[in-house]
Amino acid sequence: MPKVRTSVWASDGYTPSDMSRSVWVACILVFVCSWSIFGYKYPYYHLTPWRYGAIAWIGEEPADPSFFITRLDRTLDRVFAFWGLDPIEPHPRWAEPQLWKQWMGSTERLFATSIRDYVERTFWKLPAPSWSGEPIWPLVVVVYPDRETFRQLTGSKYAGWFSFGQAGLPGPRKLLYGLPALLVVHLTTSEATLAHELTHWLTYQSLTTDAVWIGDLPLYLLEGMAEVCERLFPRPDGDRFMGSGGRWGSTVLDMVAESCLTEDLFPLAMYVLGESFVAYLIEQWGVGGFWANLPAWAEMSGEFVELHEPDWRESLGLPPECGIGAE
Ligand SMILES: [Zn+2]
Repeated sequence: MPKVRTSVWASDGYTPSDMSRSVWVACILVFVCSWSIFGYKYPYYHLTPWRYGAIAWIGEEPADPSFFITRLDRTLDRVFAFWGLDPIEPHPRWAEPQLWKQWMGSTERLFATSIRDYVERTFWKLPAPSWSGEPIWPLVVVVYPDRETFRQLTGSKYAGWFSFGQAGLPGPRKLLYGLPALLVVHLTTSEATLAHELTHWLTYQSLTTDAVWIGDLPLYLLEGMAEVCERLFPRPDGDRFMGSGGRWGSTVLDMVAESCLTEDLFPLAMYVLGESFVAYLIEQWGVGGFWANLPAWAEMSGEFVELHEPDWRESLGLPPECGIGAE
């Protein structure tokens, strides 16, 4: 008499061993396919020590990594100089992360960042750089090999971004998640974009040192700062918003005339109005004064806008009231 179990398996002509074999084959196929798509091609990143943290090259390390690193360092030096900020000091032993764990002091340990090394199957403790004598989080720069891979794996239409942990990382997010300071770019990201994102990093870092949460500053101000600094370098899309003689073009003036500085600005206006507004404030206060006002601005954003928005509009030859033609 056949066992019930056997008759069930046999009802469509398969035996238990046939079935389990096909399950195994299917599993192996799925594994091989996903390995070839997500695992083999971009199995991990390669880590290179960098003066403020590490560079994580998605996929293979490029043939000449120093080309990118030199460009990054040069851009960063110009960003520091533009904002009149003291440079961040690299940890004296930043190039020896494997040794670092052994002699960390307690404050340094607090700011050290663990990052997995998939090649050596270990964790690195990235040494904390310092700024004005205080340790700060190391920065991990994630570099995709090219724009296409960057877009494909991150799903981002931007040329790069800065994130402070909570924002996470699209694409192979499990590789690098929860790091306190991440810059995500690709090998050919322009210097203009690098300067933009590095300004976000410095703003975040400077405010954190002052115990101010970056999210308390309005987005148009943060993006405005980054855009102002971006202008140090030639932009890939040219200066489409500038008019003649270094003045704002009519597109910007129309946009300013129709909008008020609020968090509800549509994305393009957020950047364009932000840049014009920040440029105006820097003219009035100087770069040092602008940075000195940031913590107070985060606390009293509404009052600051009320105070300075009308003058900014007048400086552009527009009526001081905002929102003509809009609420
Ligand atoms: Zn930005």
